Amino acid sequence: MANVNENYLKLQGSYLFANIAKKVNEYQAAHPDADIIRLGIGDVTLPLVPAIVDAMTKAVQEMGKAETFRGYGPEQGYDFLRQAIVNGDYKPLGVDIAIDEVFVSDGAKSDVGNIQELFSEDNVIAITDPVYPVYLDSNVMGGRTGESVDGIFQKVVYLPTSAENNFSPEFPSEHVDIVYLCSPNNPTGTVLSRARLAEWIQWCKEKDVILMFDSAYEAFISTEDTVKSIYEIEGAREVAIEFRSFSKTAGFTGTRCAYAVVPKEVTAKTKSGERQPLNPMWNRRQCTKFNGVPYIVQRGAEAVYSKEGREQTQANIAYYKENARIIKEGLESIGLTVYGGVDAPYIWLKTPGNMTSWELFDILLEQVQIVSTPGSGFGPHGEGYLRLTAFGSRENTIRAIERIKTLQF
Ligand code: PLP
Repeated sequence: MANVNENYLKLQGSYLFANIAKKVNEYQAAHPDADIIRLGIGDVTLPLVPAIVDAMTKAVQEMGKAETFRGYGPEQGYDFLRQAIVNGDYKPLGVDIAIDEVFVSDGAKSDVGNIQELFSEDNVIAITDPVYPVYLDSNVMGGRTGESVDGIFQKVVYLPTSAENNFSPEFPSEHVDIVYLCSPNNPTGTVLSRARLAEWIQWCKEKDVILMFDSAYEAFISTEDTVKSIYEIEGAREVAIEFRSFSKTAGFTGTRCAYAVVPKEVTAKTKSGERQPLNPMWNRRQCTKFNGVPYIVQRGAEAVYSKEGREQTQANIAYYKENARIIKEGLESIGLTVYGGVDAPYIWLKTPGNMTSWELFDILLEQVQIVSTPGSGFGPHGEGYLRLTAFGSRENTIRAIERIKTLQF
């Protein structure tokens, strides 16, 4: 009989969103007429913009003709998209990325989950707390985390991020090999400053640590002097892998397209102490286990970089950013303390008094019929916070805030 990978059994399952769904379903069943507004889930709501739809429609037509039909594409992505990424996302920042350092994929989730395969099981990982769960869970599956005691994995180094440290984690004091940072951050909606990221790069170089840098929300950055790419920081090419996505930038959550940048200078050690570049290893991994993103989707992603595509997608980002402003300012106007919401579509609300995350979740659901996400679901240091998202419609966002303003805290 086959043996299972018991590491999977260490995972708790998705209790957070399952619990939310259960509570919302029970409430809806008890109050069939309740008009529930969902500000919990991090999915976009605006449709794909016309420039993308036109490009994809044209690609569909090409696929329907013998002369222009395409079968398997390059596992790393078509050169037209890799080149558009290099020219559109990096050149304007003054960053030189070669096209064979760009790997197009079906999602940043897949990339951040799969990248850990390149590292041996004895590596120590550090994650921020609270955190986007995929960094941790994928390493649990990979056998790198030890056992979980009360939801805390024994071999993982947790870096608390809260208002107390201005959402900027301290360097780990213990030995680590790989650090995951996400800026703009899900769930806190905050960004790490250029100066702090420069310190991180310096620290990674000194300690020989690999930085996994998730910038899936870079399109939301508007604060000046905040880096959109980790490669804007000197020395980052030697230690950092960057993950980006068209999901939130261009509404591709259902269409699926993202990319990872693995610079040729990034290396990790073999057992015998030699330095092994990760770029050819990631290329090998993708060629073996992945057959590329559909041509039609890649043509849609390419259109994000056209003049019309840029204008139209930026208009959508501006729409969500305005929702974020409405939520942030609306909550502040009734004396609540909120973080994020400026360079990210997430608002991180401090619960009033000593209320727990779930207590505030229940109040919002039961008293004003709003679905949120309890911060404690993202890690122990998320306790006492609640995440609201700006991805809803303008109308629902305004209605939700008007309702919250009627509450007495
Ligand atoms: N990284 C972060 C921080 C996210 O919040 C998300 C999605 O919510 C992703 C990655 C996943 O992106 P994708 O849709 O490209 O898989």
